[in-house]
Amino acid sequence: MRPTGRLHLGHYLGVIKNWLKLQEEHQCKFFIADWHALTNKYKETDSLKENIRQMIIDWLSCGIDPEKATLFIQSGVKEHAELSLLFSMITPKSWLELNPSYKDLKFNLYYQYLRDFLAGKQIKIIQTPPPQPYEEALEKSTGKQKSKIFEDYLREAFHKAFYNQKGIDFKGFKDVLIKFGIQKKIAQEVVKNLEEGDVGKDIDTVGFLAYPVLQAADILIYKADTVPVGEDQLPHIELTREIARRFNNLYEPVFPEPQALLTEEAKLPGIDGRKMSKSYNNAIYLSDDEETVNSKVLQMKTDPQRVRKTDPGNPEVCIVFDYHTIFTDSQTVSEINAKCRNAEIGCVECKKILAESLNNFLQPIRERRKEIEADIHRYEKIFEEGTEKARAVASETMSEVRKAMKLWQ
Ligand code: SF4
Repeated sequence: MRPTGRLHLGHYLGVIKNWLKLQEEHQCKFFIADWHALTNKYKETDSLKENIRQMIIDWLSCGIDPEKATLFIQSGVKEHAELSLLFSMITPKSWLELNPSYKDLKFNLYYQYLRDFLAGKQIKIIQTPPPQPYEEALEKSTGKQKSKIFEDYLREAFHKAFYNQKGIDFKGFKDVLIKFGIQKKIAQEVVKNLEEGDVGKDIDTVGFLAYPVLQAADILIYKADTVPVGEDQLPHIELTREIARRFNNLYEPVFPEPQALLTEEAKLPGIDGRKMSKSYNNAIYLSDDEETVNSKVLQMKTDPQRVRKTDPGNPEVCIVFDYHTIFTDSQTVSEINAKCRNAEIGCVECKKILAESLNNFLQPIRERRKEIEADIHRYEKIFEEGTEKARAVASETMSEVRKAMKLWQ
């Protein structure tokens, strides 16, 4: 996990909860990927050490257990860097350039720029009738849902146009802009800015392009057989397998080909309904105190059609209800469901119940956090010991690698 800041509930449900289960069933290695944090945040190293410390506290206070799993810090095992360097010698550049998450990240930056640019010029994209299945979805939806569906369609249209076999397709991007009703002159200006400007330049580094190679080294150095990942990470595991295969064919069979263990992704929206993220300022953190949680819950978006308490609501389109289904007991959830639909409960009352559920969930984590913070050096030491343990395994693998490659030593 990359140490980019405090963990929030989305991280807990998406990753930590799964780790808590895995540490009971497997011999796990969990590491703080501080080198990976540099791939796109290489200018922001002032906060790196503190972020690592916060991650140690977050993991341990959630119950990640050093007795059950090896916990360590990537940069403490220099062998990862050595193996990554050797892998980079045998990895064709095209494998990395075609990596979907590299392309997606670039696309997201370009797309955001496009939106900001058009908003700055007060230009609206003309809503051309979207094809199926969007058309069908649009028909069945109302208000906000409608613009969300259109947004999806728009993104997809640009996404398709964005890349061709040779890389970024600026002409295709411009053509879609014109198709969406943007004047040719403006479309040319956007594309020229994208081609010549600074957008995405921060990730135009060797380190960013090659981070899947480092990731392959992170996995293979421990001869891991299984890697728990979300669906978006599957291409990276495939790349790891290809690198292992290539190495084994070129030299000697040293590495197993690891399997992806697809983890169930419980996606929790932020308090404004968008993806929960530090950059949107919409997250509930594991370290938030009771008061902060109460105030964040009160700000949560609810069913937009429910204007007055006497209007019947629809829990299916309410994020407060999404949270209830995860954090509140099932009987209360079904009561809220019925009462909301019959306008028998107000949103403020409903939110108070949710705040209580969240605080109940977070309370043991907070207590443990206090203990750890009071004796942080002891807990940092646990990670240092874990790093030594990991290093012993990594250095054995590196001896095999050097021997297989017939290196000097
Ligand atoms: Fe959402 Fe609860 Fe309000 Fe219904 S009562 S709209 S579930 S906050």
